[in-house]
Amino acid sequence: HVQTFKADVDNVTKAVKAHEHAHAASPITSFDVYRKDGGYSLLKSCLDGSRTREDMIKAVDDSGLRGLGGAGFPTGRKWTLVRAEKGPRLMAVNGDEGEPGTFKDRYYLGLDPHRFIEGLLLAAWVVEASQVYFYLRDEYPELRLMLLEEIAKVEEAGLSPHTTINLRRGAGAYICGEESAMIESIEGKRGLPRHRPPYVAQVGVFGRPTLVQNVETLYWIRDIVEKGASWFTSHGRRERKGLRSFSVSGRVKNPGVKLAPAGVTIRELIEEYSGGMQDGHTLKGFLPGGASGGVLPESMADIPLDFGTLEPHGSFVGSHAVVILSDQDDMKAVALNLMKFFEDESCGQCTPCRVGTEKAVKLMQQGPWNEGLLNELSTAMRDASICGLGQAAPNPLQSVMKHFPDDLKKPLKGW
Ligand code: SF4
Repeated sequence: HVQTFKADVDNVTKAVKAHEHAHAASPITSFDVYRKDGGYSLLKSCLDGSRTREDMIKAVDDSGLRGLGGAGFPTGRKWTLVRAEKGPRLMAVNGDEGEPGTFKDRYYLGLDPHRFIEGLLLAAWVVEASQVYFYLRDEYPELRLMLLEEIAKVEEAGLSPHTTINLRRGAGAYICGEESAMIESIEGKRGLPRHRPPYVAQVGVFGRPTLVQNVETLYWIRDIVEKGASWFTSHGRRERKGLRSFSVSGRVKNPGVKLAPAGVTIRELIEEYSGGMQDGHTLKGFLPGGASGGVLPESMADIPLDFGTLEPHGSFVGSHAVVILSDQDDMKAVALNLMKFFEDESCGQCTPCRVGTEKAVKLMQQGPWNEGLLNELSTAMRDASICGLGQAAPNPLQSVMKHFPDDLKKPLKGW
C-alpha cells in the first residue's frame, strides 16, 4: 500500500517494464555461462587456500567500496570489525529494497544472480559465517523462485562448503529494511528496530556477531578483487571515486537503473543518462535519496552526488534513488505524500514517530501550513525517535518549507 504520487508510479512502472523487456531480450546470466566466464574461480581460490582473508579485506579496503544499501559504511572496515568479534559469527543480506524509488537490487539480481551469490559466499568466507540469512522482499516473487534454483545449483556443485544460505521472505514492511528490524524479522519476531549500542556487528542474528550487507555491495566484490581496486577507483567525477547505481524515475524520458561514476550531478544524470526531461516538463526539484532524503530544488542540481556531499544541505543520497520532479508537480503534495508513507510504515514502537507522523499528516492536510508547529513537531521527531524512519520522516516536509516557498502559498489539491 505504498502511496507515491502518480508521476512516480507511472515512471517506476515504466522503468520496471523497460527492465523486464530488456531481460526478455537477454535472459539472466546462467550458472553455466557465469562459470565459463571465470565465475566462482575467485571463490575457489579462497576455499583452497591460495588466497587469504587479509588479501580480500585489503582489496575491498583499497577500492573504497561502501555499503550501497544507503548507509555507506566502508565495507572492508565492516569485515574487519565483524572478524574481531568472537565466533560463531553469522551473516545477513539485506534484499528488502523498500526505499521508494529504489529498484537497483532487483535489477542486478535479475541480471546476473551468480555475481551476487559469489560475492555473498566470499564475504561469508572472510568473516567465517557458518549461516547466511538472505532477506528478500516478498514483492519480488519471481526472483525468489529463480534464486532458490540457482542457490541449489551452487550447493550441488560444492561451492558453499563453508556456509549455508537461508533464503527468508519479507512481508511488505518498509521498516524491515532497517538492519536491526530485519534481524528481528529473520528471527521470526515482529520487525521492531533495536536500540544501539550494541551494534549488530556485535549482537546481531540470534545474539551472534553479524555481518549485514546489501545486495549490491556484494555484487561488486568479485569484480573489485579480480580487476583490482584501481579499476573501481578509476571511475568517479569531481574527486569522488567508484561506481554508483542510481535508480532514476520521475519526469525523465528514460527512467531505469543508471550505473554512473560517484560524484555525477543530477543534471548530468538527467541529460547524459536518462534522455533528458520529458517533453513539456522543466526540472523543478528532485528527491536525491528516496523518501528519506528530502526534496531539493533545481538550483542544487549541480552538486556532486555521493555519500557525504548532500549532508551540509540537510539531505543525503542514501540508496541512490533519484526521483525527478517538474514544474507540473506540487511540492506540498509531494511532501504530504511522503509523510503519509512514513505514517503508514511507522512500526509504532516509539511515540515521536508513531504520533508525530500522524499529527504531521493532519497538519499538512490543512491550509495554510502552521510552520511553527510543524517545525516543533519535526524537532521532536528528529531528536527523540529510535530509528532512522522517525528521524528522517520530517526531511521532505522541512526541505519543502525551506526550498519551495512559492508552493506553500498555493492551496493543496487532491488531498
Ligand atoms: Fe518504529 Fe518509527 Fe520508532 Fe523507528 S522511529 S522504532 S519506525 S516508531
